Amino acid sequence: MKIFISADIEGVAGVVHREHTSRDGREHDRARMLMTEEVNACIEGALSSGATEVVVNDSHGTMRNLLSETIHQSAEYITGSPKPLAMMEGISSNYDAAIFLGYHSRMGNYGVLNHTFHGGVVENIRINNKDMGEFALNAGIAGHFGVPVVLVSGCQHTADEAVDFIPGIQTAIVKRTINRQSARNLSPKSARDLIKEKTIVSLSRIPEIKPVSMQGPFLVEISYLHSGLADAAGILPIVEKINPKTHRFETDDFITAFRFIRSLIAIAGALH
Ligand SMILES: [Zn+2]
Repeated sequence: MKIFISADIEGVAGVVHREHTSRDGREHDRARMLMTEEVNACIEGALSSGATEVVVNDSHGTMRNLLSETIHQSAEYITGSPKPLAMMEGISSNYDAAIFLGYHSRMGNYGVLNHTFHGGVVENIRINNKDMGEFALNAGIAGHFGVPVVLVSGCQHTADEAVDFIPGIQTAIVKRTINRQSARNLSPKSARDLIKEKTIVSLSRIPEIKPVSMQGPFLVEISYLHSGLADAAGILPIVEKINPKTHRFETDDFITAFRFIRSLIAIAGALH
């Protein structure tokens, strides 16, 4: 059994603030340790369920967060950025299941530290009239490769997004959002125990979870926080502006949609 893990940091127990999540934050290195130990708990669960290969993709910010010194010796990990598939780099049809750890809800939803890829750029992303946060988009990529996402960890709103998108997915709720910058957390030890336990349950139920089926054509709408960001991203010729801060484009291929979305966000962020 081969398991792919995508590990973000905003949904880790104890993480509630920019000082935890950003490279220059005073609490960042401690948050990285908490993230690495939640990943290790998942790896332990996967190994005890019979996994023969576990690959972890570091999926936050610089994508250089997992602590090399303490990551579980039986897993391999992907680090660094940029990567073609970003938070899903390394996924392929060789995997039996994917697990998303430390995830957060989409921009515009409730949920501690909610955002979609870039909190200073993206207001919302819709594909075929459905709101898509990081969970949904990354689950769509896993689905493109025929891999089911069987477990997500994070706050209760992240869990709700996941269940809405993938009925039957297991959720490890390691904290309860109070608002965008506060949460009631499990202790680190309890969070790790819960993640390990839920990993074991989720891997025993792989046959019950269908990979997300992404059938094109895809009508993609991306709304930015303001019109200037749309002006900047508008140099990409694929887009049509449908209101001052929203672009629309169409494609038949989900990976192409994802790559254009990331390109638009990168251009908007860089040029504005
Ligand atoms: Zn993140």
